[in-house]
Amino acid sequence: MFDALDLARPHLRDVQPYTSARDDFTGEAHVYLDANENPFGSVTGGGLNRYPDPHHRRVKSRLAETLGVGTEALFVGNGSDEAIDLLIHAFCEPGSDHVLVTPPTYGMYAVTAAVNDVEAREVLLNRDYTLNVPAVIGALTAETKLVFLCSPNNPTGNLQDPEAIAAVARAAAGLVVVDEAYIDFAPHGSVLPRLGDLPNLVVLRTFSKAWGMAAARVGIAVAHPSVAALLGRIKLPYNLSQPAQDAIMDAAGRVQERDRFVDLIVAERAWLAARLVSAPGVEIVHPSDANFLLVRFTDAPTTYARLAAEGVIVRDRSRVALCEGGLRITIGTRDENRELLRALGASGDNGVPTATR
Ligand code: PMP
Repeated sequence: MFDALDLARPHLRDVQPYTSARDDFTGEAHVYLDANENPFGSVTGGGLNRYPDPHHRRVKSRLAETLGVGTEALFVGNGSDEAIDLLIHAFCEPGSDHVLVTPPTYGMYAVTAAVNDVEAREVLLNRDYTLNVPAVIGALTAETKLVFLCSPNNPTGNLQDPEAIAAVARAAAGLVVVDEAYIDFAPHGSVLPRLGDLPNLVVLRTFSKAWGMAAARVGIAVAHPSVAALLGRIKLPYNLSQPAQDAIMDAAGRVQERDRFVDLIVAERAWLAARLVSAPGVEIVHPSDANFLLVRFTDAPTTYARLAAEGVIVRDRSRVALCEGGLRITIGTRDENRELLRALGASGDNGVPTATR
C-alpha cells in the first residue's frame, strides 16, 4: 500500500498543523470573535476582513468536478510554484536526499531545491528534447525522493511520451512530479489518467496559462490522497487569499472560455511559426505543444538586444544547455506577434516586409 508518509521526511509524521477555532466548530455560528479580525469591514470595502477558508473546501469541490478527480486527491496552492516548494520541503532531507531534473527545463525546480538546501541532479534530455528514459532510470537512487518532469516542457515546448513518464514512475521509489502547466495547449498526452495505477505520480496544473489567471496565483497538485494530505498539512494556513478563492470559484466552470483561449493561442502559434521560419536570422522554429515557441537564431544575444531596444521582450535561453541560440517567444495577440515580426525585420501577411506596411 502506497503511503506518502513512508517517503516523507520523518519529522513531518508528527507535525500537527495550525488549527483555528473554526476547525473545531461544526455548527452554525453568527458571531465570530475567535480570530482577531476587524468586525466592521475592510478599509477598501469588499469584505476582505475575514480570514479565508484554510481548507479550500468549496474551491476543491469545484476543481474536483472540473478535473474529474476526488477532492482528497487535490492540493491547491499559491501557484504551482508553491506545490513545487512544498514537495521538496516534505520529501527531501536537506544535505542527504536529492531531486532529479531533466534540463533544459523549468528553472524553479533547481532554484527551489537550492533554497531548501537540496541537491538537484541533472539528466539532460535527448537532443530531440525527449526524455532519456534509461539515463533517468539509471540515475535513480534510494535518495532520489522526487523526479521533476515537465510536459509539455518549458522552454522546449514538446510533450513527453506518457509511456516514457510511466516507465520512470514504475522504476522510481520516490515521487515523479509531472508539471503539466502547458497541457491545455497540447492535443492529448496528460498523465492524469495514470494516477490510478501509478500512486507515486504527482500532476501539477496551473491557472496561470490557458485560463488566463496568472495574477490570481493558483496552482494545483493532483496526487495520491496521502501526498495531497501531507502537502495540505504543512502549507501556510492561509496560502490562498479570498480573492484568489473567489477567482477560482468563478473560473473553474468556464471550461468553454478556456478552450476558446486555447484555440486562439494554438491558431496564433501556427500563424507566427509559419512566418518565423523565413524571418532573418532564424535557424529553427521548434514544434510546440505549448503557448510559446523555442526559436534558434544565428545570433540570439544580438537579436534579443535588438528586440528589447524595440520594446519587445522575449526570454533568452541561448546559454542553456541544448538550447544554444534559443529565444523563447510567448505567443501574443496578432498585433503583438506582428510587432515581433516587424522588430525582427520579417515578412508580414503577404510576404511584404512588415516594416514597409
Ligand atoms: N511550471 C512551469 C513549467 C512553468 O513554466 C511555470 C510558469 N512559468 C510554472 C510552473 C509556475 O506556474 P504558477 O504560475 O502556477 O506558479
